[in-house]
Amino acid sequence: MLSPQLSYKQPIVVSPDGKPVALTPWLVPIVWEGTFDPMLIDLIYRQKNITIATTVFALGKYTQFLKVFLESAEQNYFVGFRVHYYVFTDQPEQVPAVKMGEEHNLTVLIVPSSNRWQDISLSRMARLEKLIESRLINEADYVFSLDVDSKFYGHWGVETLGRLVGVIHPGYYQTPREQFTYERRPESQAFIPYSEGDYYYGGAVIGGLVEDVYQLAKTCREQLDIDASKSIEAAWQEESHLNKYFLYNKPTKVLSPEYLWQDQIPHKDRVKILRFSQIIKNYADVRPNL
Ligand code: UDP
Ligand code: MN
Repeated sequence: MLSPQLSYKQPIVVSPDGKPVALTPWLVPIVWEGTFDPMLIDLIYRQKNITIATTVFALGKYTQFLKVFLESAEQNYFVGFRVHYYVFTDQPEQVPAVKMGEEHNLTVLIVPSSNRWQDISLSRMARLEKLIESRLINEADYVFSLDVDSKFYGHWGVETLGRLVGVIHPGYYQTPREQFTYERRPESQAFIPYSEGDYYYGGAVIGGLVEDVYQLAKTCREQLDIDASKSIEAAWQEESHLNKYFLYNKPTKVLSPEYLWQDQIPHKDRVKILRFSQIIKNYADVRPNL
């Protein structure tokens, strides 16, 4: 854990001449198209016999996103490697039957529904923590937790694996950090002062070794509980706590915004390839509350 109040220059993601930066100031890769050889890296991981658990939450009206999510994942996500999806839902009958590729399988886990989207979003950390404790410790090597309102458009493979993996949010990768939407109230456990911060990480993608993601989920859940006991909800719920965690526990691999885009942001001239993107949704139509 780094000491707080450590100020240093904000790292850049794209150089002034428009080139992607491929290394963080703590010497960890930022994964962009062109920085790795997919064939070589596949070959290396092929020998390891790994399982990648993938958790996805689809409660309430968000079950409608499962079909596109799973179908596009089956075209692009860890093809040729063992993947186990864990779908958390309050409506198991709404989980579509999607044909799984070789060594890909899916388990449905039933959870109670919530009537506030904030609670659904927040409870993901606690559920991830519990699932790792009860199952993933024995069933997987790596785990990714992904937003369901998303579509895979391109290759997502073993180049994304690492001890602790975060993704740079597509909305803030060229933004001065004082404008990041970190939690700014010191009363919250997610507080980050204006003079600190590396990247603004997206909460839609969390990954890493099962043990490391366990520490992350447990810590964030504890911090969320402390906030809740003081009736504070961080600006962007668990994403705010995730950003705090990553500031003091630096990721060992950082995914470029290729791995988390948003369909409403034009991508031409910004990223060479789109891999995973948040689809456009009408919040009023899909969320239980506004
Ligand atoms: N979610 C859900 N049901 C809801 C609200 C959220 O299942 O009613 C889950 C779902 O996995 C979603 C994630 O929580 O992808 C994060 O919420 P959302 O995508 O609405 O947040 P945003 O990406 O818009 O910040
Ligand atoms: Mn989302």
